[in-house]
Amino acid sequence: MTPDELKSLVRTIPDFPKSGIQFRDITTLIGHGEGFRASVAWLADRVSQSGADAIAGMEARGFIFGAAVASALTLPFIPIRKPGKLPIETIGVDYALEYGSDRLEMDPGCIAAGTTVAIVDDLLATGGTACAATELLRKAGARVETATFVIDLPDLGGGTRLEGCDVRVDALMQFE
Ligand code: AMP
Repeated sequence: MTPDELKSLVRTIPDFPKSGIQFRDITTLIGHGEGFRASVAWLADRVSQSGADAIAGMEARGFIFGAAVASALTLPFIPIRKPGKLPIETIGVDYALEYGSDRLEMDPGCIAAGTTVAIVDDLLATGGTACAATELLRKAGARVETATFVIDLPDLGGGTRLEGCDVRVDALMQFE
């Protein structure tokens, strides 16, 4: 499938979760067998070119694509969790949202020092989540050089923000 055909499988819901937001919903993309397979194949190709040793994905939609890419490349998958989900002592990073703050956590023992970890997620908006994930993975000893997304919203500046954290960004499709 072409990138334009894949883009047409993403459903846009206006004014969700609040007025003025165009919510780009990947439910319809992953609900299309060939669309899901082709999206994962595109991500896996980019990640394999980066030479990463492991894939990290953020809860929850990053798990869908990240785990599929890791399995396709026979690489380990590192889940970056929302707070309070892991039954062990975790390491975490707090980060600012437009209103308030959030936190990402992970198992501190799941990365051997010097492992190169590629981030995979569904969507890049402001880059706040991916920057926090980068900081967390680096805290755990990983090298993080690339982040690969299904969707980039370039108007929100996430790519520039991630470049500021020394992370290269790639995305299958963009919505202006
Ligand atoms: P950010 O931290 O601003 O880059 O936002 C990243 C996360 O927020 C993504 O993983 C998405 O799940 C979600 N998100 C932000 N904006 C949108 C949007 N317009 N449509 C769908 N999901 C969004």
